[in-house]
Amino acid sequence: MIRIDDNKIFQIIESNKPSSIALNGPEPLLPKIQMVSDEIEKKYGIISYIIGERSWGSCDLNLQAAEMLNADILFNIGHTIALDNFGNKVFMINAFDDISFEEVASKCADTLKSKFKNISLVTDSQHIHQIPKVKEIFEEKGFSVVIGKGKGQLNDAQIFGCEFYPVHNISNKIEAFIFLGQSRFHSIGVALSTEKPTYMLDPYFEEFLSINEEAEVVKKKSILSIYKALDARKIGIIIGLKEGQFAKIKALEIRKELTKLKIETQLLAFTEISNEKLQNFKEIDAFIQVACPRLGTDNYFSKPVLSTPQSVALIKLLKKEPIEEFFKIQHWL
Ligand code: SF4
Repeated sequence: MIRIDDNKIFQIIESNKPSSIALNGPEPLLPKIQMVSDEIEKKYGIISYIIGERSWGSCDLNLQAAEMLNADILFNIGHTIALDNFGNKVFMINAFDDISFEEVASKCADTLKSKFKNISLVTDSQHIHQIPKVKEIFEEKGFSVVIGKGKGQLNDAQIFGCEFYPVHNISNKIEAFIFLGQSRFHSIGVALSTEKPTYMLDPYFEEFLSINEEAEVVKKKSILSIYKALDARKIGIIIGLKEGQFAKIKALEIRKELTKLKIETQLLAFTEISNEKLQNFKEIDAFIQVACPRLGTDNYFSKPVLSTPQSVALIKLLKKEPIEEFFKIQHWL
């Protein structure tokens, strides 16, 4: 069960004494966020707004909505990062899943011990507190377990869908990565950015699975999109309007490179990028988006939609240079 750290919310309200607050988080947490909101209004007699827009991460705080509502504090729930707050307006609140990994970790360790000696554990924000316990289980079964150091917003052993510093720092020292949690999205990211054997530990079904084949499919589709974009006469370069995904400078740099290569471009800006919206731009043959690198890899688009690493590969191909492992980097932006 996911448990929101509502005590931290109450402490912040008691010390900051806001007259109104806003709450935001990932969609699956909204029912619990509603309960917290009711409790805040009852306990403190202040206004509590629930921002119903999705929040995909600390890159997507919906701060503009909180400002329009004139809320004194915005609580972003469920995206634990290395920072507690952004200034005195935005506070990050933990929402940890208390499901046990003991069973599935033991099963995985017993199966993998004949294959690997040195492994690393990695996870997302919901399961970060489980790392020490799972480390102990693997060590008891004879593994040497390395925990990668965090960087920027990432805690030790934590990754985002596009940021992989803790796994890169140690990739040459270990033989396999074990991802804690039921997230193919994150596990595939680890496999693509390290090219190492990667396993996903699913505590709900108490099973573990190798994710490298699925990662290979994502990679092949991404390469195919790049080759399709090679034939584009006009490319739309999309700037994301979410505060943590705003990369106008990068978009302008890419445009400059493409202009030098005699490719016609048009600059576009969106808050949410979808296939439906892109279909309005009929004369554009392919898109490059510098917002969330996982949009093109994890969603369906009828025309090529490249992320920043794919655009680097496209530019290399246009210059008749070989493309390297474009996803095997620490940060896909
Ligand atoms: S993958 Fe996308 S949603 Fe996730 S942290 Fe990166 S930019 Fe944000």
